[in-house]
Amino acid sequence: MKLIDAHTHLGYWGHPFNVESNAEGLIALMDKFNVEKSLCSYLDNKVVEDAVKKYPDRIIGQVWEDPNQGQAAVDDMRHHIKDLGFRGLKLHPLINGFVANAPIVYPFMEEARSLNIPVFFHTGHPPYSLPWAVGELARDFPDVRIVMVHMGHGHAVYIQSAVETAKKLPNIYLETSGMPMHTKIKEVFDTIGEDRVMYGSDIPFHDPSVELQRMKVTGITDAQMQKLLHDNALSFC
Ligand SMILES: [Zn+2]
Repeated sequence: MKLIDAHTHLGYWGHPFNVESNAEGLIALMDKFNVEKSLCSYLDNKVVEDAVKKYPDRIIGQVWEDPNQGQAAVDDMRHHIKDLGFRGLKLHPLINGFVANAPIVYPFMEEARSLNIPVFFHTGHPPYSLPWAVGELARDFPDVRIVMVHMGHGHAVYIQSAVETAKKLPNIYLETSGMPMHTKIKEVFDTIGEDRVMYGSDIPFHDPSVELQRMKVTGITDAQMQKLLHDNALSFC
């Protein structure tokens, strides 16, 4: 089966992570695990732009913006989408320090709506990136697809909140990287539907072999696995 990885990064990530990856390393990992395309972002959008130019069929760029930078960042986002072929917006409330549904985020959501692009939110760390706050934003923008990256991440309370928020709001999608509970992935298929959860690795923070092992033990059907590992991410590529 060919895979799509809905969550990867390039570049160097300093303290406390101390991990890095480059375009060649990412492509090598993709080849090793039969991944045909990866959605990819980094703090410095130029690094992703160069990688997309080199591997346009394999690496899908997501523009990273910090809402604290205001209108200049909205303009930069539009430029990357309209002129440089980027396909989505990545927002990271934890790294950039803002509440997911703070007023400064709204101009980015309005621009995402007019550009018709999805918005990927890191989720799972208090106080900034909790699923409830992303849900509030999703209620205000029912016509923008919002992906809860890590689907609540490491804490069962946050994971369950991501699942329940997605259950109530059809514009919420979930991505699996770093989320330890394989049972929650089956729960999404059983209670929300087949099309709103997708596999991601979070390279270089996690290794695909570990992330994929969790997918393998979910107990979902082969047809559902095809959606989880590939089909559900297609419309974000
Ligand atoms: Zn990430």
